[in-house]
Amino acid sequence: MSAATANPREGAEVPAGAPCLTTGGDYFDGLYTIARADGAGHRTFSLERQKPDADFAPGERILYLLTGPDNAADSSSWTPFAFVKMASDLASGRPFPRVYVWKSKRGTVGVERSAWEVYAEMFDDMVRRGIRRFRSAVDGQIREYRLMLAKTCMRCGRLLTNPTSLDSGIGPECAKKSAGG
Ligand SMILES: [Zn+2]
Repeated sequence: MSAATANPREGAEVPAGAPCLTTGGDYFDGLYTIARADGAGHRTFSLERQKPDADFAPGERILYLLTGPDNAADSSSWTPFAFVKMASDLASGRPFPRVYVWKSKRGTVGVERSAWEVYAEMFDDMVRRGIRRFRSAVDGQIREYRLMLAKTCMRCGRLLTNPTSLDSGIGPECAKKSAGG
């Protein structure tokens, strides 16, 4: 997994109500961290395009969830679960990006959504629609979330995905080194 991203807003926290869109109305390819505003959890996503000569889904854009440790850049830490394809809005005819969760990652229609479908919806609501508040499926509470775009450690250049690291701009190991002199 490449830490490099084409995201022109790299390192920025996207303000509420400001969807993270290009002028073409599409998602940026790159990394996104969605964090609970109270600091009680976060998820990191990566949107990447397959190479034209890839064996699997050449040229398609794939959405990954970081399922390994925070600040991990290696491909084994990421789980792919959806395609992102451009769809056409029925009313306006304008194109918009749509997340298609893979069949193997979906729940049972009309019975229960899978966690992957919930992640896909949260990603879409946060990134495309600019929505920042959600009702928890667990306890019914409405909570506020922050959308943060990945950046690299100011000391060592390593990928940062953890909200604390993103806020400080420095990874945990470098922070320890800095504190210890
Ligand atoms: Zn570092």
